Amino acid sequence: MNQSQDEYWMRHALRLARMAWEQGEVPVGAVLVQGDRVIGEGWNRPIGQHDPTAHAEIMALRQGGKVLENYRLLDTTLYVTLEPCVMCAGAMVHSRIGRLVYGASDEKTGAAGSLMDVLGHPGMNHQITLQSGVLADECAAMLSDFFRMRREQKKALRQAQRGTE
Ligand SMILES: [Zn+2]
Repeated sequence: MNQSQDEYWMRHALRLARMAWEQGEVPVGAVLVQGDRVIGEGWNRPIGQHDPTAHAEIMALRQGGKVLENYRLLDTTLYVTLEPCVMCAGAMVHSRIGRLVYGASDEKTGAAGSLMDVLGHPGMNHQITLQSGVLADECAAMLSDFFRMRREQKKALRQAQRGTE
C-alpha cells in the first residue's frame, strides 16, 4: 500500500468524521477497505445512539462483518482519523484485520502506543501492521476545531442567558 492510497482513504475517513460533527458528535471517522473496495464505514455516534460502544471503528467493523458474512475480517485495512481507544483496539484484534492506519495520535486514551500499546503487546495472539500519522494535521485540526466551536457555543449561551436575567 503506497502513501497516496493511504492518504486517499484517510480523506474518505475525514469525510465520515464530518458526518459525526454534523450530528453533534466528536468528529472521528473510520473506513474499512479490502483490496480497493469499501466494506465498512463508521463515524462516532455514541450520544445519538445511546451506545457507549458506538465508536467509528466499531461501526465500520460491524458493517464489514455483515458485508463479508464473516466475523473474521482478514486482509482488510482499517483507516481511522484518530488513534483507537482500548475498546476499539481490542475489537480490531478480535476481528483479525490485517492493517491499521490512523491519523492523529490521542495522548489521553490512545491504545496503539500513546497511553498504552494494546496492538503491539508481545503476548497478543494477532499482530496488526500499524501505520500512524497519515494526514495527522488535518485529522487533529478537525478535532481541535470541533472543541473550539463547542467552547464558543457554550460561551455564547452563557452570555445570552446572562442577557436575559
Ligand atoms: Zn474507540
